[in-house]
Amino acid sequence: MLADEVDRDRLVETFLQLVSIDSPTGHEEQIGRELEARFTALGCTVSMDDIGNLVAVLPGTRPDTVLLSTHMDTAGTDTGIRPIIEDGVIRTDGTTILGADDKSGIAGCLELLTILESNSEVEHPTLEFVISVGEESGLLGSRQMDLSRLSSTYGFVFDTAGAIGAITYWTPTSVYITATIHGKKAHAGVEPEKGINAVKVAAEAIAAMPLGRIDEETVANIGTITGGEARNIVPGEVTLQGMARSHDQEKLDVQLDAMRSALTEAADRHGATLDFEAEEIYRTYHIDESERPYREAARAIRSMGLEVIPRKSGGGTDGNFFNAHGIACVAMATGMVDEHAASEHIAIEDMVMACKILVTIVTQEPE
Ligand SMILES: [Zn+2]
Repeated sequence: MLADEVDRDRLVETFLQLVSIDSPTGHEEQIGRELEARFTALGCTVSMDDIGNLVAVLPGTRPDTVLLSTHMDTAGTDTGIRPIIEDGVIRTDGTTILGADDKSGIAGCLELLTILESNSEVEHPTLEFVISVGEESGLLGSRQMDLSRLSSTYGFVFDTAGAIGAITYWTPTSVYITATIHGKKAHAGVEPEKGINAVKVAAEAIAAMPLGRIDEETVANIGTITGGEARNIVPGEVTLQGMARSHDQEKLDVQLDAMRSALTEAADRHGATLDFEAEEIYRTYHIDESERPYREAARAIRSMGLEVIPRKSGGGTDGNFFNAHGIACVAMATGMVDEHAASEHIAIEDMVMACKILVTIVTQEPE
């Protein structure tokens, strides 16, 4: 079978080359140019939009067009990544992330193209590779993408951790919360009674707020508090940043209301005012096992002799955005482990197996 043509050494080499190119989120110029050249050299028609998202299209011999989604940015600000191979596992020297999120996904796509190039008789649908920027900054790249550029009707996102064989079919909606409490500044030593202490309002509001794990579907957090000017000034303004996520849209609405109410009530008690913003970053999707991307992924996984692991995830991918706009996608494991941490690593065998599944998905006989 074609999946047997996945070349372990070539795949590892490609991966190592990709992680050696710095691409912390927001700084994707160099990796973007590199990928534009590589996908072009492997037969794709490549276009880059204003913010750097790449779409690479390989014409197929079947009528369908399939979306294959990855992202080129890496989490945080780490640069100078030095990968080390130890006992079949690629990791770093422990000072940076590895960037397997999501360069393992991209390396797999390039290996797929390499295999298709030397097997031109193999039938496959048109492949539409979307390699986004800014994924790690709240899906910034995909959210700004002009979807009229895409012609896929379904697809696969190669960008999750978890055991090989995992299919992420359900993710939460994620909302970013920004609340600013406007109190009133005053001299804390001379006339504190003239002030309205915004820090105190914030403290009361947070203490009254349901946070952490709310229920099986829902989580919420206040992550930062900024405000105040000096120890002898009654603070006039405080800004809170947080987030809430739920797999259930109604439960999320209830949670957001509870957070807003806690703030409003505390502000009212003290005569402060409130600005409250809740910005949806990505929306929940739930792909049923009878839907096409799930079926095809499951068939490819089983043909490798592996078990399908249905996975409900706590986080989003670019796939949330595509699903929200009518392109049904599931997300697949690439072999990455501990993404976003200095302990991030990937077992070569897992990366090879994930790539074999990818090759199988696009070349298996249609149902
Ligand atoms: Zn990722």
